Amino acid sequence: MTFGSHVDGVVAVGRELVNVATPGERQGRSYDVPGPAQLLSGLADAVRLSGRDARVPDAGAVEAFLDLARRVRPVYEFVEAREMDQAAEVTNALLDRYAARPRLESHGGQPWHLHFHGDRRADASGWGAAVAMGLATVLGSEYADRLGVCAAPACDRVFVDVSRNGLRRFCSEACQSRVKAAAHRARQRA
Ligand SMILES: [Zn+2]
Repeated sequence: MTFGSHVDGVVAVGRELVNVATPGERQGRSYDVPGPAQLLSGLADAVRLSGRDARVPDAGAVEAFLDLARRVRPVYEFVEAREMDQAAEVTNALLDRYAARPRLESHGGQPWHLHFHGDRRADASGWGAAVAMGLATVLGSEYADRLGVCAAPACDRVFVDVSRNGLRRFCSEACQSRVKAAAHRARQRA
């Protein structure tokens, strides 16, 4: 399933920002936000997921990206816990904070589609408004429950479930096979 290519793109950017720029655990190991060079390259990979010709993040915007990632993570956590009221509340706060201004644009031969630009002076990342609108679109749809936090032990990376059946539980193949292997070992012991 898809939320439309533009929305899919900005939702993917938000997801990747959380996974790159918030500490916690990743695929069985503790995860720290990487140092400046690696972080910048992770942020560049994240914004590239928009599928647009996105500006490469510069060092001056790192704090704004970290701040955005910290503010987005709870949306995934609330949806994972099926606390949809809180997820909506946090998302509304993001919409307020980043003051998303909708605007129809047509570029690169694409049909007219909605873009969301915030005030660049208020948000050095330049992504707050788009990411907030992406989350709002998901939460306002029948697929609101498609945001998730990895169910594997020692992993809290987030994902967007775009599978047909909507049964995804893990951030990655790596976590899925880790859990499968552990279950297999447990069965053999039993
Ligand atoms: Zn995981």
